Amino acid sequence: MRLKNKVIFLILGIILIAGVFTYYFNNEKLTSQKKTQVISKNQEKKIPQENKKKRNKPREFQNTQLIYNDKSIPVLMYHSIDYEKNNELRVPKEQFRQQMKYLKDNGYTTLTLDEFYNFLINNKPVPLKSIIVTLDDGYKDNYINAYKILKEFGFNATVFVITSTIDKDGSYLTSSELKEMDQNGFDVESHTVNHDKLNELTYEKQYRTLKDSRECIEKILNKQVKYIAYPFGKFNNYTQKATVDAGYIMAFTTNSGWANKGQGTYKLNRVYISANHDINEFIRRITNAKYNLN
Ligand SMILES: [Zn+2]
Repeated sequence: MRLKNKVIFLILGIILIAGVFTYYFNNEKLTSQKKTQVISKNQEKKIPQENKKKRNKPREFQNTQLIYNDKSIPVLMYHSIDYEKNNELRVPKEQFRQQMKYLKDNGYTTLTLDEFYNFLINNKPVPLKSIIVTLDDGYKDNYINAYKILKEFGFNATVFVITSTIDKDGSYLTSSELKEMDQNGFDVESHTVNHDKLNELTYEKQYRTLKDSRECIEKILNKQVKYIAYPFGKFNNYTQKATVDAGYIMAFTTNSGWANKGQGTYKLNRVYISANHDINEFIRRITNAKYNLN
């Protein structure tokens, strides 16, 4: 072979090898891009299912002053945190702030409902001065007033929402407000779809409103909903079965008094706090488990 031909072959050879390399490299890149796409698609699919079970993790309490589940705990029941003349269901925010400040200054711990459930059912100890703050109906002022005040003192609370009101009316909470509260350690739980009087409904209708409201909140927050407060505190012989079948593990009434396991996990008492209760009455209600209910 002549030198000229050898050079031509060499150049052709280099071009061929470079071509093969470029093809192979691009192909690899495409394959890995495809792989990444497949992985991220799978991850997208997985995330909601994982989140569905995610709730704020219950704390493990360890100090010398703990109580166990044979004792009672006050579960405070509020509604609106705002002022309205002659409406005792609306506790003015200054009054609410004074009550929360009292709890803070006197060493109280606010429990989440998961922590309370663990106390009641699994006999996990909780601090001696444990208390639970609940707000019924899901009024907008729960976000504007109560949420801000509770956060200021490092407290949490549970909001029992009427799901048909979410995003519907300016006086009730929106889904974005509920999401924000949920992400900051607050419980959002059910108060049925239409604030239904469960005692007047058949088993099927009770089951429907209990299940639909649970699913509605779960869809908004991407987490499991497990607790309910019966509207008006009303229930009948079918209510407990409907509540269990609809997926709840604990329920609250409006029966007055501190809550304990003797009442049963589906008929728990609460301590009503109204605008008519000054700080002394508030202290009286949370200091003695057997406070005079009238
Ligand atoms: Zn209500």
